[in-house]
Amino acid sequence: MHISQFLAFLGTLAAVNACLLPGEAEGGHLHAKRRASSAPTVPIHAGDRFEGGAVAPRGLGSQPAGTKIGVLMNTVEIKSAVRGLVRQFGIQMFTTPDKTSQGATMFGGKVGNGLDCDDAYRVYLTAGVHARERGASDNLIYFISDLLWAQRLGTGLTYGNMKYTHDDVLIVLSTGIIFMPLVNPDGVKYDQATGNCWRKNRNPSGAVDLNRNFDFLWDYETAFAPNLDTPPASSDPDEVIYHGTSAFSEPETRNVKWVMDKYPKLRWYVDLHSYSGSVLYPWGDDTNQVSDPKQSFTNPDYDGKRGKIPDTSGHKYKEYITKPDWDAAKNVATKVASGMKSAAKRKYDARQSAYLYPSSGTSADYAFSRSVANGNLNKLYGFTIEFGFGGPDIYCSFYPSVDQFHDSILETGAGFMEFLLTASQEGLGSSRECPSEGPSCPAS
Ligand SMILES: [Zn+2]
Repeated sequence: MHISQFLAFLGTLAAVNACLLPGEAEGGHLHAKRRASSAPTVPIHAGDRFEGGAVAPRGLGSQPAGTKIGVLMNTVEIKSAVRGLVRQFGIQMFTTPDKTSQGATMFGGKVGNGLDCDDAYRVYLTAGVHARERGASDNLIYFISDLLWAQRLGTGLTYGNMKYTHDDVLIVLSTGIIFMPLVNPDGVKYDQATGNCWRKNRNPSGAVDLNRNFDFLWDYETAFAPNLDTPPASSDPDEVIYHGTSAFSEPETRNVKWVMDKYPKLRWYVDLHSYSGSVLYPWGDDTNQVSDPKQSFTNPDYDGKRGKIPDTSGHKYKEYITKPDWDAAKNVATKVASGMKSAAKRKYDARQSAYLYPSSGTSADYAFSRSVANGNLNKLYGFTIEFGFGGPDIYCSFYPSVDQFHDSILETGAGFMEFLLTASQEGLGSSRECPSEGPSCPAS
């Protein structure tokens, strides 16, 4: 990057795109190097507050107003915290099949409805996909912790100005929640060790942007119009949005998909990112339309036309979605944004993902595309929550201040509550029955 471009980049930090800095969003080779911060960012804890699982975490929603959590979890703590929930509350933990390039085993937890069948889980929450988006893993774990504490204590939850009853907590728990708080363990570990604003995984053959590696229009050079203002992905391993050598080339994305395959009735999915104060709903490749089912990501006739917003001659394309699906997704996203906005009085909005910038290979679009591409699969609405706002470090605005970190815990807690309550109203799919046979079902 030339110095003039860099100065322009500094000047436009306030207008940053979610997950990407301006120079990155335009396809520039921006490699932020951390130097002295302009102001302190939330520190990363040294040691293990959860003592390998002997101590359970507890979020802000189940504690008195004014309680502070002023330090980030390190990657050891993220795992210990989940173990703490297993030990203190009896939730189940699982690991996923593929190890990362650095040998990490990925893990998640199962919370909810008292049934032990795979088809009893209807909600899937992930965080920690982009390494530098600090606070995401913490936010998700603290929210799950709050639900469990409130269930045990017979209380509701309070997230800033948003209050929820004990009955709300029970409704939310009854949805059956699968959560995976650290989708990019290698990247987060590296970012925490170096502070160099790292986004991707740590694949030694070329680090990959995991949120361009899912199987939704992954081959962007074929699927999208050329020369978009913001490229939907990159085939250059040096770029921050490098999409890998094929869809699902990376163990991390295969593991996210593995959960979607294993729990066949999942209906509602959120991938938690930062930042921009936005709640994004499908689709992400182009603007939505409800009239022409042939204009679909499944139709190669429209290759080379996607992603132009507004359409230009020769690039007329809008992605098909049914009216009920559009309404449901928009309703949920709007409720989430409203709750997040009220929690700490910061500005959140709901919008269709493509209006942020067109993208290929994201987790949320992949989730929602599954049942369109394969009618045998369950419909899984996919959302991306971009919590928070630019932090004080001019070299990495993804690192929040202590106060920003605090607000984001409250906001995401309220956002997840709104998400789960509204999703319950919209519907969780077919009635849940444990099949009469199957290895994961209890004998009765
Ligand atoms: Zn992100």
